[in-house]
Amino acid sequence: MAYMNVDEIESALQSLATEYPALTELITLPNSTHEGRTSHCLRLGSDPSLDGVLVLGGVHAREWVPPDALVSLAADLLEAYTAGSGLGYGGRYFPSSDIRQVLDQGNLFLYACVNPDGRRFSQTAVSQWRKNRRPHPSGGGCVGVDINRNFDFLWDHTAKFAPDAGVRTSANPCDPNVYRGPSVASEPETRNVVWLLDNRPQLRWHIDVHSAVPVILHSWGSDQNQTAQSTQTFLNAAFDPVRGRPNDGVYGEFITQADLDRVVQLSGVMSSAVKDVRGGIYPAEPAYGLYPTSGASDDYAFSRHFADSTKPLVMGFTIECGRSFQPTWSEAEDVIREVSAAVLAFSLEVFEPHETPTAVRGKDIALVRQTPGWATIPVAFSRGDGNWDIT
Ligand SMILES: [Zn+2]
Repeated sequence: MAYMNVDEIESALQSLATEYPALTELITLPNSTHEGRTSHCLRLGSDPSLDGVLVLGGVHAREWVPPDALVSLAADLLEAYTAGSGLGYGGRYFPSSDIRQVLDQGNLFLYACVNPDGRRFSQTAVSQWRKNRRPHPSGGGCVGVDINRNFDFLWDHTAKFAPDAGVRTSANPCDPNVYRGPSVASEPETRNVVWLLDNRPQLRWHIDVHSAVPVILHSWGSDQNQTAQSTQTFLNAAFDPVRGRPNDGVYGEFITQADLDRVVQLSGVMSSAVKDVRGGIYPAEPAYGLYPTSGASDDYAFSRHFADSTKPLVMGFTIECGRSFQPTWSEAEDVIREVSAAVLAFSLEVFEPHETPTAVRGKDIALVRQTPGWATIPVAFSRGDGNWDIT
């Protein structure tokens, strides 16, 4: 085996969709890339209406492992579910009941290769290429945008951050790595991710798989988290001149204690699943721990609900897997096991078993569900006739 090229990734997703029609949906992304490629996202799950996790791979071209990991995970899950068997990744074993829970109680949306033009260029020409391949529209010969700096979250870093914050992005079209793009969401690859979040309201979690630090990142990436001052948010322009400075006591990105507890817990679930595989340490940290970020997909996903309360809350995470962008294939296989275990453990944690109300006839039954972002806990009391009173 070796790393898949972009055509092999596409044909693998299409083959899985053909082979397992009852468990999959091949979603065609609406924006083709600069080089004319059409991308697909494979949804896995027996009931499309249930909550979903969006998992991205291949946003950065030179990070070769994540797309292979997501295709491999899809194949493993579909095969195990159909055979009624479990899945083992090194020292971590998921019994068949876990596999059923993941595919029957939720949906995994695996968008395995977000930036196929970049991956092709990295695999055939310049191995360390990171961006996409769209030339700057005003000419000048500079090519490519960093997709993970192009999302609508504090995108204009010169306006939205303190000048000395050290945000790792650039307005220079010739920057070889972190050019943010000519405008927010200017790139077809970015708009495809936005389209999924817009059009699949059951998406409640977002995991962007990158390499290679290794680390598991949770919100926020713009500044240090704080839970006390609800006016200190990315939406508040009064803090634009000071945002992003560490330990300044002036501005921290607001997150509720409940949301912070949940994202820390879910990050820890992924860290411990990775460790089970072969003892690898992927510490769980706020994204700001690496450096302040602007226009990144994980912050964008989480910010959508706060920018527009009609949009569902989506918790955003990043897995930075492994220790190199293009490890030997045998090392890549171990990293693929780590990513697979992390995504599966995360899914088991968030896809709770659902009751079927009409099957519940007892009068003294109540269901309790902690909803991320809610200050209170809704309790549903059975009326004994299949209906519920929610308080
Ligand atoms: Zn990356």
